[in-house]
Amino acid sequence: MLEFHAPLPAATVARVRDNWQSLQADVAAAAQRADRQPDSIRVVGVTKYVDPETAACLPAAGCLDLGENRPQMLWEKHAWLQEHAIDAAPVRWHLIGHLQRNKLRRTVPCLELLHSVDSLRLATSLGEQTAGKALRRIPLPVLLEINISGEDAKTGLTPQEARDVLEATLSYDGIQVIGLMGMAGFSSSPKQAQAEFAQLRCWRDAWQSEFGLSLPELSMGMSGDFEAAIAEGATLLRIGSRLFEGIERRPA
Ligand SMILES: *Cc1c(COP(=O)(O)O)cnc(C)c1O
Repeated sequence: MLEFHAPLPAATVARVRDNWQSLQADVAAAAQRADRQPDSIRVVGVTKYVDPETAACLPAAGCLDLGENRPQMLWEKHAWLQEHAIDAAPVRWHLIGHLQRNKLRRTVPCLELLHSVDSLRLATSLGEQTAGKALRRIPLPVLLEINISGEDAKTGLTPQEARDVLEATLSYDGIQVIGLMGMAGFSSSPKQAQAEFAQLRCWRDAWQSEFGLSLPELSMGMSGDFEAAIAEGATLLRIGSRLFEGIERRPA
């Protein structure tokens, strides 16, 4: 739990704490139904809908993994916490959206995990730029983002591209692929979404044995489909709207 130099708005803190606790209860129940340990599932609280002060209510409530889909927004909230939290060190930042290569140097030092490696070019830049540099984490842990729905509007690698990226990264010191990320299609029914998550797990299993790698992390499941993702082995959930229910949305 994070403490701050000045108090956060009390009503927002209380509502976010309620949302966080009710989500945790639902995650634990879904884990139990899937015969899994609740502590094998980490919730990344996605703060993209709200301003930094509202976002800070999440770590104040105990959610210490935070995610943003745009690098600039991540920098801004990262900096806000550095300035206003008594000790921001326990917060772990996840980038869950596209990382432009010209934003890489500034972003990587803030990150716990990059969920969204979506091209060979990005993987190569990361492998080269982070290698040997005085950045926070070497190698940088990353996930490969796979287009599991097959929808054009969704970003991510095709399975064939992902295999190629995985193979290429084996020779880079700067990054280490530790798993896969995927998003169910906008128009997928709950059943389809679950089948898409199952497919992601199958590719993970196949590439683990093909390359002799350990790929323990599966980042899948959002506010609307996290229970299906837990049933299919998700280790990281990316949850936004559910955590900010009842709160006025003030994007920064
Ligand atoms: C916004 C976003 C989420 C969170 O979605 P909610 O439905 O609000 O929980 C998860 N993953 C990515 C990549 C996102 O951009």
